[in-house]
Amino acid sequence: MLNIIICGAPGCGKGTQSDLIVKKYDLKHLSTGDLLRNEIAEKSELGIIAESFISKGNLVPDEMIISILAKNIKAFGSDINGVILDGFPRTVAQAEALETLMSSNGTEITVLLDLNVEKDELINRLLKRGETSGRSDDNLETITKRLEVYETKTAPVSNFYKNMNKYAAINGMGSVDDIFGRIEKVLDSKLVETVSVSNL
Ligand code: AMP
Repeated sequence: MLNIIICGAPGCGKGTQSDLIVKKYDLKHLSTGDLLRNEIAEKSELGIIAESFISKGNLVPDEMIISILAKNIKAFGSDINGVILDGFPRTVAQAEALETLMSSNGTEITVLLDLNVEKDELINRLLKRGETSGRSDDNLETITKRLEVYETKTAPVSNFYKNMNKYAAINGMGSVDDIFGRIEKVLDSKLVETVSVSNL
């Protein structure tokens, strides 16, 4: 199984790269941001609560997002090549909960891909997206808050996976194809490792 986490600051391109990874490696895709936006569109109770955090640039509470994620992972069943988690975990508490969830399902995270993009570029990309996305969080004030929350709450997740030797930094600057090429190199080497371990 290839179980990937893709993370990076808001605007790093994780959604775009996830789509390419899903196609090439035939994985299931779980974007916690998309799941929350669906709940908001349906005006569910959960969506209304989530929107109050999202529109201010804050993270939704850990317990809420962990239970949504667990439910959705379970729904995939076991007959899959793996999953790509896009936007989860965003706190160390979420990473710890994910470890427990994966091991109780008899599997594990293969690698965390950390897309690194310069701050000016992130802001430009998000402002541009805001012109058409209709998202309540793609405006300068909320973007600034999201970048701050990323630094304080999400960046420490990288250390969690570095300590387990499951971390890969990816240069997220340049064309979509160039960035995907860098990701493919990492994932192809992980696949080789997985095959050689299962042949032991
Ligand atoms: P994204 O589409 O990944 O940029 O997520 C949009 C927003 O949804 C974030 O700014 C958070 O408010 C919320 N969100 C998405 N994933 C998580 C998560 N794993 N933990 C907490 N909040 C999240």
